[in-house]
Amino acid sequence: MNINSKIEEQQKFFDSGVTKSLNFRISALKKLKEAILFYEEDIYLSLKTDLNKNRQEAYMTEIHMVLAEIQHTLKHLKKWSKPKRVTSGLLNFPSKAFIKTEPYGIVLVISPWNYPFQLLFSPLVGAISGGNCVILKPSEISEATTEVSIKIIERAFEPNFVSIIPGGVDVTTELLSQKTDYIFFTGSTMVGKIVAKAAAENLTPVTLELGGKSPCIVDKGCDLKLAAKRIVWGKLLNGGQTCVAPDYLYIHNDVKEQFINLFIKYAKEFYGEDPGTHDHYCKVITKKHYDRLTQLLKDGKVIYGGGVHKENQKIHPTLLEDCPQDSRVMTEEIFGPIFPIITFSNIKEIPVYVKKSGKPLALYIFSKNIKNIGYIVEHTSSGGVCVNDVISHLVSSNLPFGGVGDSGTGAYHGIDSFKTFTHNKSVLYKGTFDPKIKFPPYKNETSVIKLLKKLL
Ligand code: NAD
Repeated sequence: MNINSKIEEQQKFFDSGVTKSLNFRISALKKLKEAILFYEEDIYLSLKTDLNKNRQEAYMTEIHMVLAEIQHTLKHLKKWSKPKRVTSGLLNFPSKAFIKTEPYGIVLVISPWNYPFQLLFSPLVGAISGGNCVILKPSEISEATTEVSIKIIERAFEPNFVSIIPGGVDVTTELLSQKTDYIFFTGSTMVGKIVAKAAAENLTPVTLELGGKSPCIVDKGCDLKLAAKRIVWGKLLNGGQTCVAPDYLYIHNDVKEQFINLFIKYAKEFYGEDPGTHDHYCKVITKKHYDRLTQLLKDGKVIYGGGVHKENQKIHPTLLEDCPQDSRVMTEEIFGPIFPIITFSNIKEIPVYVKKSGKPLALYIFSKNIKNIGYIVEHTSSGGVCVNDVISHLVSSNLPFGGVGDSGTGAYHGIDSFKTFTHNKSVLYKGTFDPKIKFPPYKNETSVIKLLKKLL
């Protein structure tokens, strides 16, 4: 069946109104949970194949995130879906006003390869909760996870409700040329621009979950041991292929050497002397991505790591210094286990530097100095900020997750997913009374204007 007829089928089903019912949406989310659990072992296997992702990491960062999102949504969906009564203003007297959420219709979800399960299924939870039909386009690069995703979707849903269309640029281009009602894209900033242009052609609303260079600031006087442990964990999670991974280290001069020693200590503690052979260390997804990262190794002086394993596409955790500001490693999103270091002596230097790479998706600061933390939060703009930890801010269902400017538009998770995938429709029930002054010909204009001003 071609893409056009799949969309037509979904349109028919959406128009039947079935997907709007709360019971249908709840039951769909339960079916999704059942299918995920049914194929849980296959998901672990596929993530191992695609990224050498360890079982526990796979559960924590992919499966659990989706199951938790389903649980949270099931718990709150009834409340979120209720029309909200609001006051309608004196000029509308007598009347009743409501905000009613309604689904957009057919939602297109395009996902990347780095968290290939979570980033396909988490938006799906939001789209279903809003009452939409969904077309999923997973990444062509994480093939094994796409295979199991197809099985999960086919077990849980009819294609006229949720359909999965695998493929590369050609398929995505074809999908983008069709009229859908919402596009939810997760991927690179470069492709985000292509998606935004295509969406503009049809005036389709769009969420862009993009990437960028997320700075990791380490201040003097912070708990350096804790900082190093958490940063090593977050930087090396998924082999550094995380959109919110600390991209570069921005550290106070006075604590640089101490931090480097601690970084090395924890990198060895977590992944051994030779991470290339460690079973819990993720590989770089493809040869092409591996080649790009090995080129970035040349952009500075290696002060730790630098080892590469072509046969299994692994790159050792690597610290770089003396990287020219205009080098690729300092201007491109790294998306791998390479960590360039720059230093500061005055906290006020930081916002100016951070701004140069556009607004980041995440910003991290490790500090005990409340004034310094406040200064950075106040003087930088980013999708989110996490103080004294990395990545954890996106685990909370109560915090919206998304970028700003170069790192994206829109947000999701928890209630923000529901808001993203629904339109707020204003509904006003008007009474029969009409004041005479409303209709032309207007008399006593001055006194009416005076009266209206008084009512402000
Ligand atoms: P990508 O932009 O290359 O691909 C994402 C999706 O777009 C894939 O499904 C792919 O098939 C499709 N695509 C690729 N090229 C296209 C084109 N020319 N036209 C139309 N569609 C195209 O991204 P990726 O390499 O899969 O993922 C890595 C990027 O995603 C990084 O920049 C990372 O920061 C970002 N990311 C962001 C988030 C977030 O939540 N903000 C999460 C994960 C990854």
